[in-house]
Amino acid sequence: MSLLITGGTGYIGSHTVVELLNAGDDVVVVDNLSNSSTKSLDRVEQITGKRPVFIKADICDKQAMQDVFSTYDIDTVIHFAGLKAVGESTQMPLEYYHNNVTGTLVLLDVMKQFDVKKLVFSSSATVYGEHNVSPLVESMPTSATNPYGQTKLMIEHILFDLANSDADWSIISLRYFNPIGAHVSGLIGENPNGIPNNLLPFVAQVAVGRLPQLSVFGDDYDTIDGTGVRDYIHVVDLATAHLKAVAALSKVNGCMAINVGTGNGTSVLQIVNKFKEVSGVDIAYQISPRRPGDIATVFANADLANEFLHWHAERDLDDMIRDTWRWQSQNPNGFE
Ligand code: NAD
Ligand code: UDP
Repeated sequence: MSLLITGGTGYIGSHTVVELLNAGDDVVVVDNLSNSSTKSLDRVEQITGKRPVFIKADICDKQAMQDVFSTYDIDTVIHFAGLKAVGESTQMPLEYYHNNVTGTLVLLDVMKQFDVKKLVFSSSATVYGEHNVSPLVESMPTSATNPYGQTKLMIEHILFDLANSDADWSIISLRYFNPIGAHVSGLIGENPNGIPNNLLPFVAQVAVGRLPQLSVFGDDYDTIDGTGVRDYIHVVDLATAHLKAVAALSKVNGCMAINVGTGNGTSVLQIVNKFKEVSGVDIAYQISPRRPGDIATVFANADLANEFLHWHAERDLDDMIRDTWRWQSQNPNGFE
């Protein structure tokens, strides 16, 4: 029996593949390499001494997905594959809806055809929209403010409807907060194309001199120091949440959404200061206008993950920043 990992050469996928291989699981990775390369799997092999099966395929390609399911004895799917840049999604909505929603529909259809009905899906805290007040709880109403968020929300609706239609499905939708950090080896980490949109890769690239300075988007929010507050979670803790979710699928009849965050909020300036402390490098920044669509404070209520998955975040902000810095300073140009 193998686990199929869609998007397994990407940032979160590659860290999860490491944890799965270390736990002795058989892993099949499918990725179209639109935002990654197989160099991450070379590094996964360096870390674990094992190499997962890799198939270059697009999840929208039904024939290719059928070939995967007929060749390998797949038991469970962890579905990371998707486009994830909020700004880009507003410029290319059709590509986002097609890739993320149609891709998931094709995947689900093929899973159904091969009677594989266990799934862990990569959702996001973005589905809480802009009106709920943190700590965010799974029972709160959901909404979306951009096409990327809409795709996550639409997929969650599809998963709930599917599980309601057929009691054999067991699905967990993990709502990630802000994944940062890297494997402690410094061999794998986040490798964004072009100028990073997210805070941590941006700060890390300022620290290694690839970018001149950080723009801090707003210092007049109602937060500890006026800058935006988020719930940063170490990517290896997020990876282990997937192993716990796979184990918990046997307890799930239907579809469950579960937050994966630490429950702690950290501001942009707290991140900048911590990065400076850990790396010894000054992070140049300027205060800039608020980024449209941003909200002041987002952090999780992580009780359900703690209780139902028996999962707790084990790594603190120091670990997250230290591991980000190790990855970035050892690989200033990513995997190149
Ligand atoms: P990533 O871009 O590093 O990984 C996604 C992988 O999916 C890439 O390797 C890409 O090549 C692949 N992919 C995309 N479309 C595909 C398709 N049609 N067929 C096959 N492969 C395809 O991103 P990540 O940060 O590892 O995110 C993984 C998942 O988690 C995504 O679904 C993302 O939306 C979700 N997520 C990420 C964050 C975050 O901040 N990183 C937060 C919440 C949710
Ligand atoms: N942020 C910033 N400058 C940047 C990128 C992000 O000040 O170049 C801020 C952003 O306004 C937010 C926080 O950092 O308050 C986290 O942003 P990110 O895009 O990483 O995550 P998200 O907003 O999607 O939770």
